[in-house]
Amino acid sequence: MAGIVVVFDFDKTIIDFDSDNWVVDELGATDLFNELLPTMPWNTLMDRMMKELHSLGRTIEEIAEVLKRVPLYPKIISAIKSAHVLGCDLRIVSDANHFFIETILKHHGLIDCFSEINTNPCFVDEEGRLRIIPYHNFNTSSLGCELCPPNMCKGLVIERIKASVFANRKKRFIYLGDGKNDFCPSTKLREVDYVMPRKDYPVWELICSNPLLIKAQIHEWSNGDDLEMILLHLINTINMGDNSNEISMLIPSDCKFQTIPLATQELLLQAVSVPQ
Ligand SMILES: [Mg+2]
Ligand SMILES: [Zn+2]
Repeated sequence: MAGIVVVFDFDKTIIDFDSDNWVVDELGATDLFNELLPTMPWNTLMDRMMKELHSLGRTIEEIAEVLKRVPLYPKIISAIKSAHVLGCDLRIVSDANHFFIETILKHHGLIDCFSEINTNPCFVDEEGRLRIIPYHNFNTSSLGCELCPPNMCKGLVIERIKASVFANRKKRFIYLGDGKNDFCPSTKLREVDYVMPRKDYPVWELICSNPLLIKAQIHEWSNGDDLEMILLHLINTINMGDNSNEISMLIPSDCKFQTIPLATQELLLQAVSVPQ
């Protein structure tokens, strides 16, 4: 059993789209969404959009069908399956919602790879409308985090996961994300952990401009190929008990970003490829 907890953001990390935007766009409600966006928090707006779609006669089944059409890059699927097979504890921390994430992961046969999905909860009300509830009730108390949206501080979630796996001090974290709200959890990681920010996305820019706030080792990625290669390399490095990072090199000089040489990447893929 690997002592590794891999925490994934969902939108634009596991899937290459934003699931909220995907549903709104596919069901033809983009204009209303854009009109209401300046007037309320995103999470509240998504609940409102479910109400609007319901009043237009759109059913939950239709929403599910639309979600099943979200493309998932094959290398991301194999990366998740390999990490699971290698014994990692995989979790999701996302500001989407339970229904969207579960529908997509089930459709691709990935749901059983994850031990926990931390996201905004959902329920179906008596009218058959999907309701989306804030992960954290910001009407009763504030999260006290200036980096995160009012309904969810991913940093608090990471702190909770850390506390829950604290019994085994050897547990190491790998955190993958793209968004602004993935910066706060990245700052909660330790020197022995890894953060994998998506290159040229908001979390990458925040890390680049605040490198001193990040203690974890940083490995950027751009697409599914990179994600698979780097994630499996890190898992193998940890599993081999090699914390020296001898095969990594530092670039660029003003950033703590690290890359893996191509020759090593090929060897690693051969070593860890798992049949789908
Ligand atoms: Mg994201
Ligand atoms: Zn936060």
